[in-house]
Amino acid sequence: MALIKSISGIRGTIGGKVNENLTPLDVVKFTSAFGTWLQNNKNKKNLTLVVGRDARISGAMVNSLVTATLQGLGIHVIDLGLSTTPTVEVMVTEVHADGGIILTASHNPKQWNALKLLNEKGEFITAENGTEVLKLAENEDFNYAEVDDLGKYETRNDAFNIHIQKILDLPMVDAEAIKAKKFKVVLDAVNSTGGLALPPLLEKLGCEVVELYCEPNGQFPHNPEPLKEHLTDICNLVKETKADLGIVVDPDVDRLALIDENGEMFGEEYTLVAVADYLLKHKKGIAISNLSSSRALRDVAQNHQSDYFASAVGEVNVVTLMKEKNAVIGGEGNGGIIYPDLHYGRDSLVGVALFLTHLAKENKTVSELRDTYPAYFMGKKKIELTPEIDVDALLTKVEKEYQNEDVSTVDGVKIDFPENWVHLRKSNTEPIIRIYTEAKSQEEADKLGDDMIAKIKSLI
Ligand code: MG
Repeated sequence: MALIKSISGIRGTIGGKVNENLTPLDVVKFTSAFGTWLQNNKNKKNLTLVVGRDARISGAMVNSLVTATLQGLGIHVIDLGLSTTPTVEVMVTEVHADGGIILTASHNPKQWNALKLLNEKGEFITAENGTEVLKLAENEDFNYAEVDDLGKYETRNDAFNIHIQKILDLPMVDAEAIKAKKFKVVLDAVNSTGGLALPPLLEKLGCEVVELYCEPNGQFPHNPEPLKEHLTDICNLVKETKADLGIVVDPDVDRLALIDENGEMFGEEYTLVAVADYLLKHKKGIAISNLSSSRALRDVAQNHQSDYFASAVGEVNVVTLMKEKNAVIGGEGNGGIIYPDLHYGRDSLVGVALFLTHLAKENKTVSELRDTYPAYFMGKKKIELTPEIDVDALLTKVEKEYQNEDVSTVDGVKIDFPENWVHLRKSNTEPIIRIYTEAKSQEEADKLGDDMIAKIKSLI
């Protein structure tokens, strides 16, 4: 059981004691804080907020609490009901709302839910703003509306259509090229809202859709994080149905993983690599991902005489750097595609449309396309320390040890060696350093992690 209050929102398990879980009281308190913060910030009471949720079991209950609380503050609510994170983001600007709340715990199991907070641009609020919201929640400094000033409530059921039409209207999405290919696609939406959003998009692109776990009932049939070990069913079904590819999204549809025609993972890291390859081929520009994402993106950018930059981990950080560098494409190695011509948020729908355009134009199978990219392998390890160890001081020692290498300290310590890299990040909750590596083989990536553990131990 847990309640994690962070600058990007509040996340917790349903049930149990107040302040230790995401109980109804915690939902109301946190919603009140965000609504109040927006009202203070905008210096007016009668704001409009867009609310949407993924299909998890607690969604309807949390939605009732959130929308009623906002009305209680005098805020007008536009409720999209079952929706996706990118759809809510798109709708905030579409209806000129003052912000939005997405009810989703993303790839976390069914026990969890969360409130993700959006500003008037439909983008995640900054760390600074998040801190202010947390402070308001702490002080319970709320002032609810009088009876004549309660917020209005309306629902909308056209959000998916609006989102999809915006994608089809993008010049870089070539619906005709995709239609000509008549792709057969298996879709695993883990029984969440990807099952509502993606089939109409794929059908508009002339694809034959084989639906797997597309009932938005929140009964996740497998761990909802789109990793290889959870995706056996779709890998088999792609082979059985002789489909051209498989598409997997997480419960709130901001992470996209692909399966090739042989039922093999395209590799979550390579979703962004392929989409960036397509965009940079047609428009030179800058590509951005975070420090823990694959180097394959840098290589692909170089192939197109384009620049690549890496941000600290976290979607807000990627978006901030994308804006600073005026990037044409960005995202995260976990299958998060951010295409700024649509909006600054991870969006699997636009990712699917751009990937299918690329696939159609390259005239290759998915596995052939994958073979055109440099092969990298990632390793993940951790080193457990004792609480009395100063982790920051230890990381500084590591940094000094490698001072002659290409070292970044934007987020932990990242060491870029000529042939591979290591990224060390300290945990904020436990005395642990997480060690991410990437190399030309799995063996090498794992060894790199083990060598780093030995090195860190020698520095303690
Ligand atoms: Mg997600």
